Amino acid sequence: MEMKTKHRQHKQKVSAVQRQMTAFYKAKQQVRMYHGESNSTRVSDADRQKTVDVSSLTDILEVNSDERYVLVEPNVPLDALIQATIPFGLMPAVVSEFPGITIGGAVQGGAAESSSYAWGCLHEIALEYEVVLGNGAVVTASNKNHPDLYHGLACSYGSLGVLTLIKLQLVDAPKFVELAYVPVKSAAEASRVMTLVAKNKPLFIDAIMFGKEEGVVMIGNKANDLTLPLARFSQARDEWFYLHAQNVASKHSNYKERIPLQDYLFRYDRGAFWMGKHGYKLFHIPFNRFTRYWFSSFMKTRTLYRFLHGAHLSQQFIIQDLCLPKASVQEFVDYVDSRFGIEPLWLCPLKTDKEAWLAPNYLKSESVINVGLWGAFHGDYDAFIDTNREIENKVHSLGGRKVLYAHCYYEEANFWKVYDHERYLAIRKKYKADDSLKNIYDKVTVKKKYKASVIKGWMAILKDAGLQ
Ligand SMILES: Cc1cc2nc3c(=O)[nH]c(=O)nc-3n(C[C@H](O)[C@H](O)[C@H](O)COP(=O)(O)OP(=O)(O)OC[C@H]3O[C@@H](n4cnc5c(N)ncnc54)[C@H](O)[C@@H]3O)c2cc1C
Repeated sequence: MEMKTKHRQHKQKVSAVQRQMTAFYKAKQQVRMYHGESNSTRVSDADRQKTVDVSSLTDILEVNSDERYVLVEPNVPLDALIQATIPFGLMPAVVSEFPGITIGGAVQGGAAESSSYAWGCLHEIALEYEVVLGNGAVVTASNKNHPDLYHGLACSYGSLGVLTLIKLQLVDAPKFVELAYVPVKSAAEASRVMTLVAKNKPLFIDAIMFGKEEGVVMIGNKANDLTLPLARFSQARDEWFYLHAQNVASKHSNYKERIPLQDYLFRYDRGAFWMGKHGYKLFHIPFNRFTRYWFSSFMKTRTLYRFLHGAHLSQQFIIQDLCLPKASVQEFVDYVDSRFGIEPLWLCPLKTDKEAWLAPNYLKSESVINVGLWGAFHGDYDAFIDTNREIENKVHSLGGRKVLYAHCYYEEANFWKVYDHERYLAIRKKYKADDSLKNIYDKVTVKKKYKASVIKGWMAILKDAGLQ
């Protein structure tokens, strides 16, 4: 479609959002966003009458290869975005690990990945936002224009305005990533190695701790050596990435391979890192190479999320990403090991955010590591809440912050010990969000017990496949 037509259609879509917000503002009706599927683990049961519908904002208006940016509507998922930029030899500098994460959700939800050690979370590569405010007015926010709104919007979970367009920075996209695996024996060693290798400015760094004393740091660069062994992770016959990494680290002290770019970027998609393994347990299916092959299409994150949302199972799992000062990571990993025994853990270094004050990596520490703590929880609902609060307190006491896409159970006073309440109230007032957008605390906290149903989970998958 021609660029002019796309821009014209975009204007019409923005007008539709404006009309909705103006009506909500007049009616003093606080609303949530509706954008279709979500990668949050919270179940959305919002009354559709009380949502602003941004689901049609799914276009890429322009890829500008000279100035290296893309103009993208917020409801474009990351796999569609890179398919549009790769033909220009470009990609966003931060591409979250799950292909279905949308640009708007990522900017609002603190999405990060293995290039974040250099770039920070995805919002840090957003150069400009077009925003419909709570009263229906449209503004453009950037570092120069409404900088307070620009920095406040990141990780505000749709509580300060409705994003309608994002200008995102692009960088060179390598065709293949050369991935080097360095085995480590502790989380402290992993963070030391990650700090050391960061000095060479590779494209990507992350690590997995398979157990307290077994882990691997993975360093990605543009692949120049085409003789390296080729590895892929997107096809049914490929091994899940984390199992491959564990196997490599157990056999080699320094191994390198070559991975096609998209297979690298979405390497954790099949199996949702390792959370898909719980599906096998739930249905008493043996977990082996053969069954991973057979159930491959069920194990992609989009399908797993559909199941999770339909089945309302997320209160049976601890699914949290926790940003910690680098110095506290070993203590936190020891705590997790003694308290929950959850493994593997994902370690992803992040550049500290100095401006976006709601961001999970807006910490005092100079270097931050995100710990992905995802595993089964054994206990009743009360124990689940107590445990979540315990983790929230622990992270706060170690000088860290949660990524708020997950379940939050903070008492309100404790939540505002982590985030600057006065500043939040002031910016909500200034940009007219008070009357028509739900506030961040109400949006991210879970206030009820979900009723789990595996059958409803299956029905959600079948419905989506058009089989019901
Ligand atoms: C096991 C697991 C592993 C994960 N690993 C990673 C990882 O490696 N890297 C990573 O980046 N993330 C990871 N995530 C989390 C994921 O990034 C977040 O859930 C992210 O927010 C998802 O984006 P979404 O598009 O689904 O948006 P949602 O989660 O649906 O939305 C996020 C917020 O954005 C708001 N919003 C959406 N659209 C708009 C708009 N147009 N205007 C204003 N507000 C809007 C929504 O209201 C919501 O509050 C992981 C999650 C799990 C469960």
